[in-house]
Amino acid sequence: MLGTTHGSAGLFLGALSGTVCGGGVSGVIWGAAAGCVAGLLPDIDHPGSMAGRLFRPVSLYLEERWGHRDSPTHTTLFVLFAALPLAVLWLLFGCSAAPFWGAVTGGASHIALDAPTKSGLRPWRYIWFIPQKWRERLYRGKLETGSSLEWLLTAGFLAGTALLVM
Ligand SMILES: [Zn+2]
Repeated sequence: MLGTTHGSAGLFLGALSGTVCGGGVSGVIWGAAAGCVAGLLPDIDHPGSMAGRLFRPVSLYLEERWGHRDSPTHTTLFVLFAALPLAVLWLLFGCSAAPFWGAVTGGASHIALDAPTKSGLRPWRYIWFIPQKWRERLYRGKLETGSSLEWLLTAGFLAGTALLVM
């Protein structure tokens, strides 16, 4: 999927998390920001992506070592790991829960949106207590990156975000 789709999905789910968690406009904004960043972050394993361009040495290493979408960043464990600092701010320092839940849902949306594409991904790797056949299972579908469905999804996510912000 394209960065715009991942970013807009994270933005929408983050804004939704902010709405559910309360905290008013700032909860929605911080939730949306965290969701958007978490939605884009897994593609750090692709040097041409937004995250990959920002952290180029990390991106080049990940792509060379594992390849795009087969690196640890395209797993559910990475989604939780990336949201961990926000959990610390929430649980230990009394900050709003909105950014944490925004990051979890935004990151999870990246995994969910990449799964039905032709390349697919293996989201349960590294979770040791899951049976190996599930850990190694490749989820894939027939969606192509940049399809018209993707643009429709992006428009829907952006419209949903606008409704939540208003
Ligand atoms: Zn991806």
